[in-house]
Amino acid sequence: MQLRLQAPTPLVAISLDPALPPVWTKLEFLNPSGSTKDRIARFILEKAWRQGRIDARTTVVEASSGSTSIAMALACAQLGIRFIAVMPEGVSNERVLIIKAYGGEIRFAPKQEGIEGAIRITEQLAAAEPHVFLPRQFSNPDNAQAHRFLTAREIIDDIPSGRADAVVSGVGTGGTLVGLYEGLRDSGCLPIPVFARPVNLTRLADVECCSFSARIPGVVECVSTIFQPDALPDLETIEVADEEALATTRALMSKGYPVGPSSGLNYRAAQLYLAAHTNEDRIVVTVFPDRMERYFTTDLFQPFR
Ligand code: PMP
Repeated sequence: MQLRLQAPTPLVAISLDPALPPVWTKLEFLNPSGSTKDRIARFILEKAWRQGRIDARTTVVEASSGSTSIAMALACAQLGIRFIAVMPEGVSNERVLIIKAYGGEIRFAPKQEGIEGAIRITEQLAAAEPHVFLPRQFSNPDNAQAHRFLTAREIIDDIPSGRADAVVSGVGTGGTLVGLYEGLRDSGCLPIPVFARPVNLTRLADVECCSFSARIPGVVECVSTIFQPDALPDLETIEVADEEALATTRALMSKGYPVGPSSGLNYRAAQLYLAAHTNEDRIVVTVFPDRMERYFTTDLFQPFR
């Protein structure tokens, strides 16, 4: 069993500031469902199918504030199996409609419980119904393995020098940062892992209910068991103010990259890393995780209304 519509995404050198070297950027928004979460949906579901843990009778149930549910909904549509997304109340309506269009069902967790409430409901559904499969993106090591074996290998195939000195990413589950770091290390690179940490994402969190604000309880610090800062030697954290991440996202859009706010966050953190190492000719890799169309109703588009 192999999911349809999967192809490598481009790796491009993007230079918004001529004073800095370019940032090598993986255009993950070009994945079939519009985000990098197609990697983990594909890896986890194909593995479960191979192992006989899912089949046509299965219901896949996942907790997510958006991208993973959309990717799982698409993958389940291709597999012809039932999918239920459990999301905190308040996620943007665009996300709900996309999941429904793929034939997925939605259950809402109380807003004040955030993603932890959504995870609790997935466990309740698994206990109550037969043939439920929980991908468990926040604790399943295959989340990071997907990026290690799929995304990182594509980067190594495409990066001209075969070398990456730093890998930069925001952290929701941490699967991207951990997996890319491990995959680049597998290929002989010794990249510095750089955690792009948003600060003061107050307004974004209110309207979008995404995973990037420390104001969303537990998502960065508590919920994920995949991102263990102590297990990443030399981890560096670069803070990016929310308005700066949004301004960078708009600058990227104006250059023809149809990306969401976490792409601006990642790109800005990569620029700040390069600016701190100007004399060292560093090759820095990051990803653009998802597309701008999911954010029409958020602050990102405020200047264009
Ligand atoms: N960007 C977007 C749009 C996301 O939805 C997420 C995860 N929720 C991330 C980035 C972070 O990826 P990861 O979960 O691999 O840390």
